[in-house]
Amino acid sequence: MYRLRLFASRHSRSFERIYTLLEGAMVAMDPVFRRVGYRRVEAVLTPIERLVKSLLFDCRMCGQCVLSSTGMSCPMNCPKGLRNGPCGGVRPGGFCEVKPQMRCVWVEAWSGATRMRHGEQISIVLPPVDHSLKGSSAWLRAAREKAEVRRAAKEAQRTTLARAFDDAREHEPSSAPLAPEPETSVEASRERRT
Ligand code: SF4
Repeated sequence: MYRLRLFASRHSRSFERIYTLLEGAMVAMDPVFRRVGYRRVEAVLTPIERLVKSLLFDCRMCGQCVLSSTGMSCPMNCPKGLRNGPCGGVRPGGFCEVKPQMRCVWVEAWSGATRMRHGEQISIVLPPVDHSLKGSSAWLRAAREKAEVRRAAKEAQRTTLARAFDDAREHEPSSAPLAPEPETSVEASRERRT
């Protein structure tokens, strides 16, 4: 699959678009996934992710995918396991010191990143691999984390609005909203008073 791996980093821009669409769709599916249960969804999704990504990227299922920060070149294919750039042994022509027949994954990563819309992410220092996540679905984790952040932001917005209604009534009754408040904010404000 080495050729497909090179193909992926040479078409990194298209894969970046596909990844963005896929992530958006998975984030939108969050309510469904929560109803079904993330564990069940993961059991179905992981084999699909493994198959697709092993074909395209020689994925090792580290569980913390960084392809979008590494020009769509998987750093886990580096024989030294380097996640933050190449070692000092890259051969002339961009070949690996340990496997001279293979292009350095970081040389591919750099050229892939130059084609991507958010290729500048390659300069962000990546944390060490958490081996406890090996074999899990990175797609699902990333989408779930994003969905949780969005939910928390919405919740914070709702609470701020509810507080604003409450304070307005207390300090200036005439500024209280004419429209009925959503039931959740009324309950929240009752709870705060008790
Ligand atoms: S970074 Fe991890 S999850 Fe992503 S392709 Fe490489 S091994 Fe697979």
